[in-house]
Formats: sequence, C-alpha cells, structure tokens
Amino acid sequence: MSADLRSNFLRTQVQSDLAEDRVAEVVTRFPPEPNGFLHIGHAKSITVNFGLALQFQGRCHLRFDDTNPEAESQEFIDSIQEDVRWLGFEWSGEVRFASSYFQQLYDWALGLIDRGLAYVCDLSPDEARHYRGSLTAPGQDSPFRERSVAENRSLFEQMRAGEFVDGERVLRAKIDMSSPNMNMRDPILYRIRHATHHQTGDQWPIYPTYDYAHGQEDALEGITHSICTLEFEDHRPLYDWFIEHLPVPHVPRQIEFARLNTSYTITSKRKLKLLVDHGVVTGWDDPRMPTIAGLRRRGYPAAAIRHFCEEVGTSRSDSVVDVAMLESAVRDDLNRRAPRAMCVMSPLKLTLTNLPGDLTLSVPNHPANPDFGERCLEMGAGLYIDSGDFREEANKHFKRLVLGKRVRLRGGVVVEAERCDKDESGEVVEVYARCITFEPGVDPEDGVKPKGVIHWVSADHAVAATIRRYDRLFSVAEPARAEDVVEVVNPRSLAVIEGAMVEPMLVQAVPESVFQFEREGYFVADRHDHCANSPVFNMTIGLRDTWSGADA
Ligand code: ATP
Ligand code: MG
Repeated sequence: MSADLRSNFLRTQVQSDLAEDRVAEVVTRFPPEPNGFLHIGHAKSITVNFGLALQFQGRCHLRFDDTNPEAESQEFIDSIQEDVRWLGFEWSGEVRFASSYFQQLYDWALGLIDRGLAYVCDLSPDEARHYRGSLTAPGQDSPFRERSVAENRSLFEQMRAGEFVDGERVLRAKIDMSSPNMNMRDPILYRIRHATHHQTGDQWPIYPTYDYAHGQEDALEGITHSICTLEFEDHRPLYDWFIEHLPVPHVPRQIEFARLNTSYTITSKRKLKLLVDHGVVTGWDDPRMPTIAGLRRRGYPAAAIRHFCEEVGTSRSDSVVDVAMLESAVRDDLNRRAPRAMCVMSPLKLTLTNLPGDLTLSVPNHPANPDFGERCLEMGAGLYIDSGDFREEANKHFKRLVLGKRVRLRGGVVVEAERCDKDESGEVVEVYARCITFEPGVDPEDGVKPKGVIHWVSADHAVAATIRRYDRLFSVAEPARAEDVVEVVNPRSLAVIEGAMVEPMLVQAVPESVFQFEREGYFVADRHDHCANSPVFNMTIGLRDTWSGADA
C-alpha cells in the first residue's frame, strides 16, 4: 500500500481505537450480497475495508450476505471472488457466508422469544404497514404483540418446520412502536420463504433479515469496525440493540461513510441487471458496464481503480464524483505502462514511389521509458495510413499529409504526397508519395520540414483486426435519476470497426494487455475474444478527455 495515504475519519478512528486499546487488532469485512456483479461503488467499499486491514496490519473477511436466496447464485459468488482478487486484495481465512450462521441466529431468536423480546406476528404486509405509522405518526402495537412466550416459541418452531406458507407470519423484535426511529418499531427478524438456497439447500424455510443477521455475524467473526454506507445510519440503534440483548461473543461497531456515486454511471446492481436482462449490453462484463468485470474487460488497470478510490476520499457527506476523475486515473496509469503500437482504423493505401528496397526500422516501444525496448517494423513501398490523415488540399492547420506537402511517418522516413487515385464517387482510394529522406529520424536536406507525424502500417505485414470503440454508456450525467435506465442509454456507446489494420506483433498480444495505439488512444486485447486468428481490441480510453466536445 502506498505511503501517501490521506487521512480520513475512518483511519483516524481506527488509529485511536488501536492507540487507546479499544481494539487489539483491526478486523473488517466486505459483505456483498451475491445477487449481481460488483460495481465501481463496491470497489470503493473493498478498498476501504481491505485497505484499513492492510494499513493497520489487521484482517479483512469476505462474507457473502446470502439471506435472499431467490436473487442469489453461484455465478455471482464466483465473480465477486474473482473481482476482489483482481483488484489486488486477499481476504483472511476462508470465504464466509451469512448462511453458515443460520442455526446460531435461529437459536438466538428463540432466546429473544424466551425473554419476551420477540413475538410471532400474523399481520399481513398491508396491515403491518398500517400499524407501523409514519415519520410523523407513531405506530400501533400489533394485536399479536402480547402472545405468550410459549405460544411464540411454538409458532416460531412451526415456522422453522415449514408449516406455514410464505408471508403467513413473521418474527418481530418487541421494541417500541412509538419510537421516532421507524427501524425500532418492532422490526422483522424472520420471514417465511420456501426457497432453495444455494448454500443450505432446502434446510431453511425461514430467512433472517439483514438487520437481524448482519451485526450478529459481525459479532461472531470478531469484526471490530463494521463499515457500511450512510443509508444504514438510522439502523445503527437497532444494530446496537441486538448486540446488547443477545449473548454475543464480541461487540462490533458499525460506522457509516458516504457511498461513492460517479457521474454518467449507475451503481445499483438492480438497475445494472435490467441492462443485462434487456440485452442492452452483452453481459455483466460488457466493457461499457461500470462493473469491476466490465472495467477490467475495458482495460482499466486495477491500480488505476484503487488510485481513484483513494483520490476521491472517504467522508460522511454524499456527493457525485465526476467520472472524468476515474478516466484520468486510467490515462495516467496507462500513459506510463502501455507500450506503443500502430493501428490504422480506416485504411487508405499509400504507395511510396521511390523506395529502393524494404526498410527495417527499429522503433521505441515507449517514448519516455527505454526499459520498454524497441521493436522492428518492416516498411515496404505499400503502406496503409488513416484516410483521415490525407487531404488533397488543406489549410495550414491540417498537420497531416496533403498533396505537395510533407509528413513524417512515425519512426521512419519523411514523405511528400505527389498524386492520388479516386473511385467513381470521387473518393480517394490510393495516394502516391515519394520519400524525401530514407533514414529514420533524419531531416530533409533542403530544409523543408515535415508538417507533422502520422502513423502507418505495412500493407504486406499488417493484419486486419476488429476494434470496438466505446463511448459513455449513458447520455445523461445522472442516469440513476431516470425513470427507466434503458431509456437513457447512449445509442452511440459502441461502434465496431471491422478491417482496421494493426502491426503484426499485436496479433501475439496477450489477452488483457493494453497498448497505446499511436494518436488513437488506449486499446486492450479482449479478454475473451482476442486470438491470433482474429485480433479483437477494445478501446479503453482516448488520449485526452474529449467528452466536452473538443476535437482530439
Ligand atoms: P446495490 O444497491 O448495488 O445492490 P448494495 O449496497 O445493496 O448495492 P451489497 O452487495 O449489499 O450491495 O454491498 C456490499 C458492500 O458494498 C456494502 O457494505 C455496501 O455498503 C457497499 N457498497 C455498495 N455500493 C456502494 C457504493 N456506491 N459506495 C460505497 N460502498 C458501497
Ligand atoms: Mg445490499
């Protein structure tokens, strides 16, 4: 972990808890529900929880909050573990599951019943809502609140035995129906749900609520700092109530921080699932998705995501972070770490009319870092340049190839365009140019300097590739506010280019390796689809921020 960590209220809290001996070792947990892929918001939570454990030589658990069997699956359990590891973190001990504590939670619930602190309630959901009152009106006691301990115990045991249908009864804590905090108005501990669970199968027809389960799991695991997002602040009195009234082996403490929201992004698994289910994207790991798997497939480095999570800070006030900050972290990282390569997106034939023989050029793989080495590029008479890099005539602002004018070919010679061929529609199909210099890096003897530098590939050696160019997935800054997320998807978020020409070494690129395609941006060899027979590159990000409309 880097040395330049900023101070924030969580770090300060943990530090003083250690200094003043309130805790001996920091134990945190990351508790995802396995009902979808993790997203950039979870990356924040992961870096906070694992980061604190790392910083203070403590431990962080990975615990699946699997109390909702219908929405959960093994696919999500697997993807979450893969994503946490890819982000660069390792949990302490085995993967843990809320479901492995079901028996203990059940036994403790019986204990609450025995002490008159929980009761079985038969109100329908509609009736229960009515009895609950509102923010301005106190609730009313359920008519089932004064059931005897014996009756409650017997009914709860019948619930557990599967003798009632879904929703027929619930177990509630007996706290205070007139509490100003709605969470304290006899909250539900258990619901009846005849569902097969991915871990426990058909063992349990009743499932504990998050509120009842979470703090007790923290206590069982010896969690010292149970960090969650601000929406749970009002649940903290309930969290503490359970800890106080149950014979737990340890007292954990809940601390809230503001969730990470980024502009142009959705950070809700439920809404991301809609995009997957509607086929708006190709899956949870579509490179346009703000999921960790999507960002990975897009070519975002794990280090850049971690850096971004650190940069945005950790506070207790909600805000929306400009997604450009994440993009800029990605660009900074890749500028340092991505080797350079050439790809011609829209190939236009360029024939060198006076090249005496093929040249072999040695070109640096990184302009600023000699450790990247050099590679050999063959240059023959037949080349491809980008069709956007040639004009028959142009004003002085066009620093590319123009008839009668000069450019340097990246890493190689200076050429001057002589003439071009056009097809019947008037479109230029081939350009002819003569070499003014024949050696890389040499300036023309007549002192007429080239206007600029353009990239190229050798027609004899280049390989056709598929390039996927991406734009932001949403066309509005706050897609979470939209009535229907599908409606605000940017129709131009994906453009597939077939027949781009790449230099031959790119065919061997290891999937997930990122290159800077000179003058085009950063591109990653697709994790799943790229292979030597069919190169596929995804655009990670442009060279500079062009979202504001400026021309790159
Ligand atoms: P979602 O609404 O996307 O389902 P969630 O909070 O229900 O999110 P969980 O799987 O319960 O998803 O989250 C696991 C952990 O990640 C929780 O501790 C939660 O507080 C945290 N988390 C989720 N979203 C964010 C976010 N945007 N910023 C910071 N932490 C988050
Ligand atoms: Mg949740």
